[in-house]
Amino acid sequence: MSARIRNKVRVGDTLARVGGDEFVLMIPDVKNVDQINLIKTKLLKMISTPFEVDGHIAQVTASIGISLADDLLKEPAVLIRQADLAMHEAKQFGRNNAQWYSLNMEGKFNKRLDLKVKLKNALANREFELYYQPQVEAGSERLIGLEALLRWKHPELGLIGPDEFIPIAEEMGLIVEIGQWVVKEAAAYNYSLQKRGLAKIVMAVNLSSLQFQQDDFIEQLEIILVKSKLEPKWLELELTESLMLENIEQVVQKLQEIKRLGVSVAIDDFGTGFSSLSYLKRLPIDRIKIDKSFIRELVTDHKDGAIIRAIIAMAHQLGLKVIAEGVETIAQTKMLHRMLCDELQGYFFAKPLPTDSLEVFLEDYLPNRNLKAEHDLPTLLLVDDEDNILYSLRRVLRKEPYKILTCNNAIEAFELLASNDVQVILSDQRMPKMNGTEFLSRVKDMYPETVRLILSGYTDLRTVTDAINHGFIYKFITKPWQDEELKKELQSAFRKYKQSVSISD
Ligand code: C2E
Ligand code: CA
Ligand code: CA
Repeated sequence: MSARIRNKVRVGDTLARVGGDEFVLMIPDVKNVDQINLIKTKLLKMISTPFEVDGHIAQVTASIGISLADDLLKEPAVLIRQADLAMHEAKQFGRNNAQWYSLNMEGKFNKRLDLKVKLKNALANREFELYYQPQVEAGSERLIGLEALLRWKHPELGLIGPDEFIPIAEEMGLIVEIGQWVVKEAAAYNYSLQKRGLAKIVMAVNLSSLQFQQDDFIEQLEIILVKSKLEPKWLELELTESLMLENIEQVVQKLQEIKRLGVSVAIDDFGTGFSSLSYLKRLPIDRIKIDKSFIRELVTDHKDGAIIRAIIAMAHQLGLKVIAEGVETIAQTKMLHRMLCDELQGYFFAKPLPTDSLEVFLEDYLPNRNLKAEHDLPTLLLVDDEDNILYSLRRVLRKEPYKILTCNNAIEAFELLASNDVQVILSDQRMPKMNGTEFLSRVKDMYPETVRLILSGYTDLRTVTDAINHGFIYKFITKPWQDEELKKELQSAFRKYKQSVSISD
């Protein structure tokens, strides 16, 4: 590599190898930035050209940091330090690229340095805390588990999220000790929840790959289990896909030992790493966690839906359970349930909670409260072949306390009536195939307790009086309608429903 780079160096440039794989190239009399950019592109290309070593092909790539000296710079070492910072930025940027030094790198670097110093003492100073996020079974919404999520509460810096400090803890190797504390704390807390009768559910803990790779990992896990008195089946370890790829034989063996202890294993962030399906088949795991990036746009993006369906089908074939994380809405909840996803976790059910809030949550938790709330609302069915009419009706009624169902014809309406508990129906009169009064006369036979209204600009008095006299319909509302009047008529229809039901009771 030295020889290659030297080839590109002009007379007057200085090339030095300052460390194992670190070179410094000094270029005096730079005319303009383009000149540097040209050199950097050439270097990257040349370095990444494969070598042949003893009949093997080898390839390396470079990360380049660039810093420009101005007349103010007094200390040459500063220039090298700046280039070094920029090189680290290039590494973070995914390698095989070059970055120019900038002042904000300084800020970032200092912040990181500061966090490093503070992180060293965090464990001893008891600055870590675990939050717990509930997990539920899809459909029944029964509580089935908790995920322990680490928080760092620094006396001056305040609450620091794991995405900010875990990478640093990993870089420093501190994550092993911190991670061990997490497992110990989470296991002990789960035991205490069970002992106090607050919950008997699984506790999931995130593992860093560095932690999992420790030679004494299994030993330590056993010690923690014994000391916490927690039955192993109430503990689950969450591992990421990337960890699985590192040394598959060793990973399989370690996972088998974990299973032998009776602890279960989940693959976290599934679908975001390089999942190798052939490995998946060999790994003794229990659950797959679909990453929240697939759930975010599930309801609108059919591609996410397709991926999720495929993951679920595959997991079930392999005898694994599937949990979706990042579930935030009722629509996602219902859709995932329909897709046969087994379990759900996300803000829709609860955010990660500190222990005191969690315990209040556990005591008050009622499965399906949200679904029930919607379910308990009286239901109105709107039938009209014109979508714009349905749309404006929905708008007028958007603040009314009804669950609203809509459809374009009688056939669809019968399906909705079969699968929902409908109290009031408002139907257009003039529709192709079956008109409103005909439709409602059939509804009267099948669902006599419903209250039925017609909406029409059609003024065939005979049809109207006939329908009313035979009791098919309760009211006749003319198109175009008056918003307030329409609301009043519907309120009175729901009142009528209540009265007739309480009389027949
Ligand atoms: P993760 O394992 O993928 O954890 C899920 C993250 O999603 C958590 O972020 C959680 O607060 C967040 N989340 C949960 N529900 C929702 C939702 O409905 N919407 C959205 N937008 N987000 C939701 P958090 O707590 O900031 O943790 C971030 C990551 O830090 C975790 O991602 C995990 O990789 C890591 N981590 C957390 N605790 C530990 C730990 O004890 N050890 C290790 N090694 N890593 C940890
Ligand atoms: Ca996780
Ligand atoms: Ca995730």
